[in-house]
Amino acid sequence: MVYQPAECREPVKWSFKQGKTWDTPRGKAVLKLIDGFDPLPIYQHAGPKLHAYRRIQSIEVKDLFPDLRKDEQRICACGCGRPAKRRYHNEDCAALVNICFEILYGRLESIGTVLSAVFGYQCVQCERHNYSKLQVDHRVAVMNGGGASWLGNFQWLCEVHHKQKTARDLAENKKQKEEIQPDLFGGIV
Ligand SMILES: [Zn+2]
Ligand SMILES: [Zn+2]
Repeated sequence: MVYQPAECREPVKWSFKQGKTWDTPRGKAVLKLIDGFDPLPIYQHAGPKLHAYRRIQSIEVKDLFPDLRKDEQRICACGCGRPAKRRYHNEDCAALVNICFEILYGRLESIGTVLSAVFGYQCVQCERHNYSKLQVDHRVAVMNGGGASWLGNFQWLCEVHHKQKTARDLAENKKQKEEIQPDLFGGIV
């Protein structure tokens, strides 16, 4: 049995605060594009190539974003529906695909870049601001099926609260193993 809570794949809608570290024009454009972006088509296309119980995925961009055509014409692989000369309609589309790939691949550095640009730097529990002490946390832990998840499954925690959270994750994992016995090697279906 394969298990990933639905909340791990839900679109994220944020009320826009100005970017703190992603202050380039392209960064801003991409943040707007992923605001409310529905990753479901990506999951559907990737199928079992994305694994709910793996921290880092073994995937390529085309596993998530296939080449798209409509009436013989090439259209943008980002899914925006606009015509494309190569793979993408424009550089923003290419950048969107790139950040989506990094998120689902599991690159915490890139996920942290998005988190900081949207929410700033602070632990969601104690609001501590010390960046060097902040860590990207999977709300639903990878051991509990939170691997390959979308942005909403990530948050900043400080070291102290991350440790406490991990202890809770382990307890939850123990419970899950007793209750549902997930197939740890299965993909997401
Ligand atoms: Zn596009
Ligand atoms: Zn904290």
